[in-house]
Amino acid sequence: MTARIIDGIALSAEVRGQLAERAAALKSKGITPCLAAILVGEDPASAVYVRNKVAACEKAGMRSIKDVYSVDVDPAVVFARIAELNADPAVHGILVQLPLPKHFDSAAVLESISPEKDVDGFHAENVGALMQGNPRFIPCTPYGVMKMLESANVPLKGAEVVIVGRSNIVGKPMAMLLLAKSCTVTICHSQSKDLAFHTRRADILVAAVGRAKMITGDMIKPGATVIDVGINRNSEGKLCGDVDFDSAKEVAGAITPVPGGVGPMTITMLLANTLEAAERVAAGNAKGVAK
Ligand code: NDP
Repeated sequence: MTARIIDGIALSAEVRGQLAERAAALKSKGITPCLAAILVGEDPASAVYVRNKVAACEKAGMRSIKDVYSVDVDPAVVFARIAELNADPAVHGILVQLPLPKHFDSAAVLESISPEKDVDGFHAENVGALMQGNPRFIPCTPYGVMKMLESANVPLKGAEVVIVGRSNIVGKPMAMLLLAKSCTVTICHSQSKDLAFHTRRADILVAAVGRAKMITGDMIKPGATVIDVGINRNSEGKLCGDVDFDSAKEVAGAITPVPGGVGPMTITMLLANTLEAAERVAAGNAKGVAK
């Protein structure tokens, strides 16, 4: 058996086309959706992520602002800038690229972003809303995964889902979204006993760990849908996921590749959240309503 590939590049192109049309419609009403991105320090991966996010915005007909600070910047400077962006009616979305340098209180920075502009969905108010099944902004990576499952027509109701990884950014919100779709969800982590016992039960397996090729074909239920969120470098420096693609594709029913899977969808859903924030302003409902 060779798994069907769930192509994140093709789906991204389709969704970004729809977003560009919606952005153009808003522009004709005098509102240009605008994302402000803040980068602190010179971490090369973070710099690439921010560059890609800003470029994607421009390509979809949205405006972007990029503020870059040196690694030793006084956090007060960043807090002041966030306050300015919060107050600017022309800015609809604000993101601070993580990780921040050690002298920052990351949680305090995320909490300082106005929840109405928190397009990453990391503010406690937005996390709570998601938990209550009434999300304002869905964190971009799990949001992208949900779109991929939907586009691939993967049945969700009653499905056994196993998520490996329990981060606030991926694992936990992913679990909430799938629970809301009536999946039976198990979350595994570094202290889970007998990981393969769990993964072999999964109709849908989501790997979000950050360890190259740790999920091998023998850990996958035949016919399962495998979503690989991981972004790692192999020994030759090439990008690879948490799933050993070559062995997994022989067992799985459907699988996302790395690169070209979840990654492009993450940026696409950031654009979607920014656009939604701008649409809410246009509709006079900036506080946001349930999706
Ligand atoms: P974190 O480091 O925050 O979380 C990793 C999780 O994996 C933790 O919950 C950890 O458990 C768990 N874990 C570690 N080792 C094991 C193990 N041996 N067995 C089972 N679980 C384990 O990572 P993120 O969630 O931020 O990211 C995960 C991966 O996804 C990374 O590769 C990251 O680069 C990628 N990523 C990709 C995105 C995309 O757009 N495609 C977006 C965001 C992230 P514990 O909690 O016990 O420590």
